[in-house]
Amino acid sequence: MDRIYLDYTADTPADERVLSVYTETARACFANPNSAHSFGISAKNAVDDALMKIAELLHISPDELIFTSGASEANNLAVKGIAFANRRRGRHIISTFLEHSSVSGALTFLQEQGWEIDLVNIQPDGRIDLAHLQSLLRQDTVLCAVCAVDSELGTVQPVQEIAEILKNYPNCRLHLDATQAAGKIPLDLSGVHTASLAPHKFYGLKGCGVLYKAKGVVMEPLIHGGASTTIYRSGTPDAPAAAACAKALELALDEFDSRLERTAALHRSLRAALAENPRIRINSPESAVPHILNISVSGIKGEEMRRLLDARGIAVSVKSACSVPNTPSRAVMAITHDRKNALSSWRISLSHLTAEEEIAQFLSVLNEIIAETG
Ligand code: PLP
Repeated sequence: MDRIYLDYTADTPADERVLSVYTETARACFANPNSAHSFGISAKNAVDDALMKIAELLHISPDELIFTSGASEANNLAVKGIAFANRRRGRHIISTFLEHSSVSGALTFLQEQGWEIDLVNIQPDGRIDLAHLQSLLRQDTVLCAVCAVDSELGTVQPVQEIAEILKNYPNCRLHLDATQAAGKIPLDLSGVHTASLAPHKFYGLKGCGVLYKAKGVVMEPLIHGGASTTIYRSGTPDAPAAAACAKALELALDEFDSRLERTAALHRSLRAALAENPRIRINSPESAVPHILNISVSGIKGEEMRRLLDARGIAVSVKSACSVPNTPSRAVMAITHDRKNALSSWRISLSHLTAEEEIAQFLSVLNEIIAETG
């Protein structure tokens, strides 16, 4: 039996068209884009072309983009960079229980350095409680960090409503972790000050991330020394990775409707089949994105289920790939308030590439495991 990959939230296979752009650019533009000679200028032009294309696709300006090594670095740069740069204005930050560890970990680091962190309550539908957010905001709040789509449950946050509330707090910057949103749901960056994404989540390559930083937002760089295409991230820019990222985003947006429709159809049939088993609890709210479906099987820990499925050739995830093992999912706890259920939770993630037969095979294996552990 072929193995079945149902972990597209952790990573996606690179599209052949993205790989072609990468290899072509790597051959043609091998020089350092920071070099002043003609080889360097060719490489710099490739980076600039990529920035221009990404900016056009996101409806922003190319000088508002910073390439990083991935979304974790982009999140760290935004969260710590904004906190450090505004330390004299205030040391209060608001975030949520749904954040990826690259945001929550950066916040814990800041907390240890004296910043005060408050987390907004999550409603049963997975959206943050806007009235609670309003009540937490203070004049010394310098940052509100929210994920557009969380990686465990797939809940979608009302970004524009959050931005609207923050308009009354001019010292407060809005950071959006758009890693699971980019290319998957429509992304409106108006009112957002910084936003992170990574092409390996939308059929691009790993080792590359993008941070959007709106004009006028002050941020301390994390890496010091060396001039580069941006003062916010020194080091040699990666022209092939930049070009590949632009291609991946272009494809994701060009094929947006067909990818979404296909994934949503798979999601609907999977959700309906899972709902028939009384031992299965579906944790992702109905309004979650179709590529993420978080469930729990009563009596089986999430990690045990992941292992049992893996032994039969099926790849799923428990929490996100980068979180602390053997602890209950913070995101599932936040919406179900049930620790046992959170410990049993795990994530199936789908793609437009997922075949119907793969879903059928997965369901049959899952039912077998549930019957054996009954
Ligand atoms: N943010 C979210 C919501 C994610 O899902 C992930 C990866 O799973 C990241 C950030 C980190 O991305 P990267 O692996 O590119 O550092």
